[in-house]
Amino acid sequence: MAVRDIICVACPRGCPIKVTLDDAGNITNIEGFTCKRGEEYARAEVTHPERSLTSTVKVIGGSAYVVPVKSSTAIPKELLFDAMKEVNKASINAPVHIGDVVIKDLLGTGADIVATNEID
Ligand code: SF4
Repeated sequence: MAVRDIICVACPRGCPIKVTLDDAGNITNIEGFTCKRGEEYARAEVTHPERSLTSTVKVIGGSAYVVPVKSSTAIPKELLFDAMKEVNKASINAPVHIGDVVIKDLLGTGADIVATNEID
């Protein structure tokens, strides 16, 4: 049996959640959440943790050198390091508009890397 202590980040309240797993890694109990979102967050965090990715990408020929970007959906946590390597290699030509796709289907995750600001 193992117990994982997690802080829910699904909202700013930050509830402490305790997840108990049996020896096979199956969840046997979840406590401490105060809403359904928290329970779902804790379950996902233990079984298949995901994170949104935010970063910047180089802009070619624009009024700024970089544009902030984010992943369109959360991606598996274990892919974050490789995902950042792909983002660091990427660039986009100006002008850039909010929602422009910089990388499509990042590492086959189904998530796109999209611009979150305008660059002339
Ligand atoms: S359990 Fe619910 S109320 Fe608590 S931090 Fe998570 S989302 Fe917010």
